[in-house]
Amino acid sequence: MFLRCTNCKFQSSDLSLKRCPNCNGFLILELDKIPSELVVEDKEVGIWRYKRFFPKISSRISLGEGKTPILKAIKLSKELGLEVYLKNEGLNPTGTFMDRGSAIYISFLKDIGVKEVKCFTTGNFGCSIAAYSSKAGLECEIFVHEKANHFKLLQMVWFGAKIKMGYDKLIMNEKNLITQADPLFIEGLKTQMYEVFEYFKEEIPDYIILPIGSGANIYSFFKAYKELSKIGQIKKKPLFVGAKPNSEAAKTFIDLDPSFLYCESLIKEIKREDMFIEEVASKEEMINSMSIFAREEGLLVEPISSIALSVLYKIRKKQLIKDNSRVLIVLTGSGLKEIGSIVLLNKRPIKKIKVGHELGFTKLKILELLKEKSMSGYELWKKLKEFNINIKLSTLYEHLKELEELNLISSNIQIIKNRKTNIRSLTSFGEKYLETFKRIEQ
Ligand SMILES: [Zn+2]
Repeated sequence: MFLRCTNCKFQSSDLSLKRCPNCNGFLILELDKIPSELVVEDKEVGIWRYKRFFPKISSRISLGEGKTPILKAIKLSKELGLEVYLKNEGLNPTGTFMDRGSAIYISFLKDIGVKEVKCFTTGNFGCSIAAYSSKAGLECEIFVHEKANHFKLLQMVWFGAKIKMGYDKLIMNEKNLITQADPLFIEGLKTQMYEVFEYFKEEIPDYIILPIGSGANIYSFFKAYKELSKIGQIKKKPLFVGAKPNSEAAKTFIDLDPSFLYCESLIKEIKREDMFIEEVASKEEMINSMSIFAREEGLLVEPISSIALSVLYKIRKKQLIKDNSRVLIVLTGSGLKEIGSIVLLNKRPIKKIKVGHELGFTKLKILELLKEKSMSGYELWKKLKEFNINIKLSTLYEHLKELEELNLISSNIQIIKNRKTNIRSLTSFGEKYLETFKRIEQ
C-alpha cells in the first residue's frame, strides 16, 4: 500500500502524508494487492464490510456509516424516460456522505497517535469531523466560514469542537489541516461506489450524477470504479456527471467548497479516461429540484444534493442522455440539516434565529443569575438593579414568561415565610443554552 502523487512521479509508503512533498499535488492511495473480487464481509457493519479494500486500521471509530439505500425514483423515471435511481447518503450518522471519509480517516489518525485534528469548513465537513473526533476522544478545532449555516455550527459545538471564525484568513496560516481531498478520506468515500456495484452488479448505471465541490467525492467513485474494473468485476464504463452551482447559487447555499479547493489534478484523471462531464445549475433550478424530490419522491434533501437533478433535466434536454438509460443520482446530504433552505423553499418568512441574539441582554443576564441560584421574581428584579438593569417589575415578569415558554427556566411554588412564592430556576436545557452561547462567544 502506498501513496502516489497525481501530478508527478512521487510515491511513498508513509500514509500520513497529505500532499506531495515535491509538487504539493494531491496524493492517492494505491493498494498493492487488490483482492480478486469485491469481498463483502457480512458480519461487519456499513463501510467496514469492505475492509480488505482499505489500509489496515486497528482503531475503529464508527457511528454506523455506510450501507445507505438505493431507491428507484418511479415518477422521475417515467417523466424523464429514463431509469432513475437515488442513493440516499443523507441517512449517514451526521446526514452526509462525508461520514464515510471521517470514519476511516479519524480511525487512521487515532492509530498513528494523533491527539488533535484541525479542519476548515463551510458546514457538513466540520459537523462530520467533529462527531467522529468526539467518538475518538480527539480534540477538534474547526475554522468556520462566517456564513456557515447556523444550525450546522451548533451541531459542531454540541460535538465539543472548538470553533474559530475568520475562515479565509486563518486557514492560510494554519498547517496540518485535514481536508476532504486527503487520501485516507477518499478511501472512506469510495465505499459509495462499492455499494453501487453490490446493488447493480455488472449492470451499473450509465450515468452517475453528483454535486461537485472539491471534486474529492466524484473522484472517490472513479477510484472505486478503477479498482473494480482492474480485477474485472466492472466491465461497463459509466459517465460521471459533476453538477455545479452557478456563482449566485454558490453564494446562496454557502455549504459548498470554495473554488480554491477544487482538486483539478483529481478531475483530470477522470477526464483522461473520457468519463467526466460537468453541467451548471442556478439557484431557482436547485430550489425547484428540492421541491420535486420532496413532493414526488418523499425525500427532503440538501439544496446542494438537489442540484444533481437540475443537471439531469438539463443534459436530458440537450439530448446528451439516451432514452431508457440507467441514471444514479447521489443525494449527498439530508435536508434536515438545512432548515434555512426549507424556509426559502416555502417562501414563508420566519423569525431569524441567531444563537445568543434571539435573547436580549437582559434575558441572558436573568439566565446567568439563575444559574448561580434559584430565586423569586422580586429577588431577580433587585439583583438586576445591581447590574444597572433597571426595568419595571411587570417587564421582568414578561421576560420570565417568555423564558419559561422556551423551556429555559422553570417555576415552582414554594411556601416561604408563610407566603406562596414562585421560585424560578434554570432548566438543564437553559444550562446547555448558556454553555453553547459562551462557547460561541469565545
Ligand atoms: Zn508530486
